[in-house]
Amino acid sequence: MKHLLRFQLLFLATLFISACAVPSQRAAVGAQAAKESQINSSALTRAPEPKSQDPQAKRRPKDLTVRILLAEKQKSALIKHTGKVYIYTLNLDKKYKISAPGTLSVKALGSGKIQVGTLQANKTIVLEPALNTLLVWNKNSYSGKIFIIPAGNTFHLVEHAPLETYLYGVLPYEMSHSWPLEALKAQAVAARTYTLKTLENVKNQNFDVFSDVRSQMYKGGGKQYDSVKKAVDGTRGEVLTYQDKLFFTYYHANCGGGTDDVRSWNPGAASIKPLSGASCKTDSHSKSYKWQMNIPRSKVENYAKRVGLSGTLKSLKIARKTDTGRATNITIRTSKGSKTVPCGNFRLAVGIRSCKITKLSVRKNDVHFEGKGYGHGIGMCQDGANGMAKDGKNYKKILKNYYPGSEIKNISNYYGI
Ligand SMILES: [Zn+2]
Repeated sequence: MKHLLRFQLLFLATLFISACAVPSQRAAVGAQAAKESQINSSALTRAPEPKSQDPQAKRRPKDLTVRILLAEKQKSALIKHTGKVYIYTLNLDKKYKISAPGTLSVKALGSGKIQVGTLQANKTIVLEPALNTLLVWNKNSYSGKIFIIPAGNTFHLVEHAPLETYLYGVLPYEMSHSWPLEALKAQAVAARTYTLKTLENVKNQNFDVFSDVRSQMYKGGGKQYDSVKKAVDGTRGEVLTYQDKLFFTYYHANCGGGTDDVRSWNPGAASIKPLSGASCKTDSHSKSYKWQMNIPRSKVENYAKRVGLSGTLKSLKIARKTDTGRATNITIRTSKGSKTVPCGNFRLAVGIRSCKITKLSVRKNDVHFEGKGYGHGIGMCQDGANGMAKDGKNYKKILKNYYPGSEIKNISNYYGI
């Protein structure tokens, strides 16, 4: 389900806004750096982070920072710290540290004032864990700094985490950590690229990404699975590019034997080769490959009403489909008339798994659907990636298959900004 929701919300959030890419201002040195500097992305020239208060911090990896919205409009929160923690305002006019493990109470005091432990302020307060300390909130562990940002009578929690640490907390919630390493590595490169592409278009001053289906699922980089750590570390800094630019590396659970051009899902999107569709011969082992579902007629009728068509459901037909058999448009006919809608919207509204519909019949009480795949069918098919890895293919082969024409480049030279 998370895949369905994620892609619906992505439409609203970050989709296909052309990047205002600027050339890197960082001087590139050496051959490797020259290759890296070919990547044309504003995400690589971000503002520096505030200075760390932890003297040990120089031992941390200096990756690009991702600002993750953990929660908004909170009135109170309890944040546990497993060791030493630094608490300070951004201009450092107020600061203190606690050396022993404990729990900090965070409260909104009203009119833009907040309290963290014993420190009160009318501005953002930073909670910085010392090296090897984790912050635990809402059962998730975080190793980045948590910014507590006042907002009227509430506050927002935003974690500033290194990109690679962020990926530790994304991967296991987007793909099972028990899958083969090469599939996890392909997922790591796709998720890293997707994140950086998102960063190019951020307009919000306080955060870059959501921690839920609106971006990628994230439950903190503090809990690290060995397999996930291996996959992220083993591809450190690697991203996918096409013509020296990052692109939205969409992925989904199962394509049902073949992926499609991005325009089949979003007609307004610019089609690029890596998102133009690919064959997939390794996803039929999954239970998502073939499905059947019975959807109450009322669900279809309610959706029809939302798009301006009332009446009782008479028929439902695929109006257009792609060469792989994925419906792009569905025509709904009721007692009051008919309307043709994008299948992507229809799918999410009524809850069918994909638009690769192989059979459809309107019955007395429900609509019977049969189909293949799970998700929108664009970019990498995760079940297919799993199958390829089990067949002995490495992550580069997997990525080449699902994002044809793309190139892997390394941005780790930009880390340390
Ligand atoms: Zn597939």
